[in-house]
Amino acid sequence: MKKDYYEILGLSKSATKAEIKKAYRKKAIEFHPDKNPGDSSAEESFKKAAEAYEILSNDEKRAKYDRFGHQAFEGGFGGGGGGMNMDDIFSQFGDIFGNGGFGGGGGGFSGFGGFGGGGGQRRVKGSNLRIRVSLTLEEIANGAEKKIKVKRKVQAEGTTYKTCSTCSGTGQVTRITNTILGRMQTASPCTVCGGAGQTIDQKPADADAHGLISKEETVTIKIPAGVEDGMQLKVSSKGNEAPGNGVPGDLLVAIEEKEHPTLQREGDNLHYDLYISYSEAVLGASKEIDTVSGKVRIKIDEGVQSGKILRLRGKGISNINGYGKGDLLVHVNVWTPKVLNREQKDFFEKMATDENFQPNPEKSDKSFFEKVKDMFS
Ligand SMILES: [Zn+2]
Repeated sequence: MKKDYYEILGLSKSATKAEIKKAYRKKAIEFHPDKNPGDSSAEESFKKAAEAYEILSNDEKRAKYDRFGHQAFEGGFGGGGGGMNMDDIFSQFGDIFGNGGFGGGGGGFSGFGGFGGGGGQRRVKGSNLRIRVSLTLEEIANGAEKKIKVKRKVQAEGTTYKTCSTCSGTGQVTRITNTILGRMQTASPCTVCGGAGQTIDQKPADADAHGLISKEETVTIKIPAGVEDGMQLKVSSKGNEAPGNGVPGDLLVAIEEKEHPTLQREGDNLHYDLYISYSEAVLGASKEIDTVSGKVRIKIDEGVQSGKILRLRGKGISNINGYGKGDLLVHVNVWTPKVLNREQKDFFEKMATDENFQPNPEKSDKSFFEKVKDMFS
């Protein structure tokens, strides 16, 4: 039986947003892994509190939880992942402790992407950068390497950092308070350095308060074959740098797919509409079609029926997960002339009664619907 989220944070069902935030902050500090090294039950509590906060701090998720309980999020948090990982939790901290919460004080590294790494030493993480990359279908099919200019924050040359004197570089300050239960020792993040353990010593005039400057850099992004519109790729450590010994954030690349003038994508398969003349349908033809690797000539047999689908195996898109390549499906459309001269009209009128011109679908000429059924079976 999963424990109630309100219970985990020690809250009543009517708790306000501010109360939820405050309660979570308290739990997060209490069970923080840096404070409880090697204590797996503390880590468990830490994760549970983060999960509870994630749900209760979001109006929509909270409403769902209030109505359906844990059932609303069956299959693990986030739909199948099974619990939050430490990176998720630490990135959530930007919200909880950033913007004047965790840091705030003069010269502190507030508002960064949270604390990354682990393993004892706290390290401030730079914020992530987000860009969009537009790709042609050819680039998607074959994979691509893109050189993109990004403006990222980097440590300015000449910036030096020193150990924070308030927390002696530990990133935490310990306070002793007298309560009715006796003297209690609590540790909270250092507000002077924002928990990073370092502050600015010297910096050039053009650097910001954190010793960072904006710099345009060209980043090479390797795009694997088979990506789709809306996918997001991560280029590690190419986001904004963090001050001091912090680690850089990541560069998040959103994929956009440019529309192709003649090819249509459907998963890993491609579709191409081929138009042939009435004569070509009757006599057969050699036609040039577009593929993602250039033009290709295909043979159309004489007597082809309109609506026939020719499958060019392996001429589609490479599967993103390495499951081979899709196909190119060529749809044959016979173009019927709209205006005929007298001579042509005479010819076709004569043929109207010709036995050879009567529709006579043989068994091998499957109907359009049968072909569609075959394609998806
Ligand atoms: Zn400090």
